[in-house]
Amino acid sequence: MPTASDRRTFAIISHPDAGKTTLTEKLLLFGGAIHLAGEVKARGAARRARSDWMKIEQQRGISVTSSVMTFEREGVTFNLLDTPGHEDFSEDTYRTLTAVDSAVMVIDVAKGIESQTRKLFEVCRLRNVPIITFVNKVDREGRPVFETLDEVADLLQLDVTPMTWPVGMGGAFEGIYDLRSNRLLLPEGPSREFQGKVVETTGLDDPKLDELLSAEGLANLREDAELAMAGYAEFDGEAYRNGDLTPVYFGSALKEFGVDSLIKALAEYAPPPRPQPAEPAPVDPSNPEVTGFVFKVQANMDPNHRDRIAFMRLCSGTFKRGMKLIPSGHGKPIAVHSPILFFARERELADEAFPGDIIGIPNHGTLRVGDTLSERADVRFTGLPNFAPEILRRVALKDPTKTKQLRKALDDMAEEGVTQVFYPEIGSNWIIGVVGQLQLEVLLSRLDAEYKVAAGLEPAPFETARWVSSEDPADLKTFADLNRTAMAKDRDGNPVFLAKSAWEVGYVADRYPNVRFAATRER
Ligand code: GDP
Repeated sequence: MPTASDRRTFAIISHPDAGKTTLTEKLLLFGGAIHLAGEVKARGAARRARSDWMKIEQQRGISVTSSVMTFEREGVTFNLLDTPGHEDFSEDTYRTLTAVDSAVMVIDVAKGIESQTRKLFEVCRLRNVPIITFVNKVDREGRPVFETLDEVADLLQLDVTPMTWPVGMGGAFEGIYDLRSNRLLLPEGPSREFQGKVVETTGLDDPKLDELLSAEGLANLREDAELAMAGYAEFDGEAYRNGDLTPVYFGSALKEFGVDSLIKALAEYAPPPRPQPAEPAPVDPSNPEVTGFVFKVQANMDPNHRDRIAFMRLCSGTFKRGMKLIPSGHGKPIAVHSPILFFARERELADEAFPGDIIGIPNHGTLRVGDTLSERADVRFTGLPNFAPEILRRVALKDPTKTKQLRKALDDMAEEGVTQVFYPEIGSNWIIGVVGQLQLEVLLSRLDAEYKVAAGLEPAPFETARWVSSEDPADLKTFADLNRTAMAKDRDGNPVFLAKSAWEVGYVADRYPNVRFAATRER
């Protein structure tokens, strides 16, 4: 009987090109891939629509939408939530990280920690998401192992524990030694390229090693390993699960080195579903009532229907097909008759889901990102943030008779988290806000293709936005009245201050100490 403790729900965080896609493929290959979200979606008309929509991804060679991949190994079910890895990422990426229990950080051995890795890491840190580090591409020349380990420790302020050690790199690469299990992973086959052989040893002084490795490779390994064991923290499972320590694995996703060790590490150390922050109290996965939250909404698999899939992370209880769940916010129960259960080996068997699993719920726009779904109406998960946009643009409608369609489209996309929308108090120039440039392209392409609205984007006189609030409504009113030209409402009617610069935010914050200027908003 599957339970929450068999589940490992995780994401891979990395900078573009570090090897996330390659590693994902290999994880699915090594584990028994059960169901890929893409396969579930790709049916008939939906398949065509999907590929149209994917055009933008193909053109850019990047993945715009997140999906769910599930694989199984030795009784453990792994749910891998994909996060778009491009530099211009949306809030989707961030929100996906609210739905995982742990993360694998992939870094390129030649490049170390890069900007995107760092940003995503900070999001993980906000929620104390534990991180396993995978240093990829050791089949190529890279930086010295110690340098890489020290960089992770210094930049991310984490304890590091090397769990494996590469014997040479690039042309001198001979294999990987597992410092904990004393196994040596060796290349095999005619090209001697791929990991083929695993040799058990009794330790670094096992004479077997002399036959298996070059004299130089072995001498370096022994010396390095000794230094490493003395110089780095010993692995401590609790420190890892608290997000204070990262175990580090070396490998080559391309050559399939170290992938197996990574899966084992996830099974052995990564946390199963944890209690989730909620009002009135955190929800424990052992709670028998079904609860979950929507972390992503994906629309328009088929542009002829306004269907959406809400991705819900199950937090407690055993979900059964047909179950009635109450969405927070509007209270009317919905019956979930045709959920997409990504883990199901056979679609027909897809009848149940457990804490940590992701369920796709088709709906017509009732479900929104941040919604809690539960059997009882009084629980509400907290902590799904909206992020202050870094780019603001004015939407210029080319055909003024399409105002209604435009508003609908902007609302829809705000709801999905593609963009944010702000309706200024004065004037009719709606403003959209995004975290990355790519979101702007997605917005325009979808306005045109799905809503038949021709629109352009113009520079906005604002650079950033802050959600404003105050203890005393009178303080907020005074502020809003004096700054009317910069006041707007977000999609949910919350007051927002549009600022011309980050400097201005600081300036007004000083002048109005009783008003809070928030760069994120919990939904
Ligand atoms: P992503 O952008 O992080 O998804 O990276 P990809 O998985 O697409 O990999 C980027 C490039 O690095 C591709 O050309 C891969 O073939 C290559 N690559 C990925 N893993 C390895 C590896 O372990 N060794 C080598 N030599 N190349 C790799």
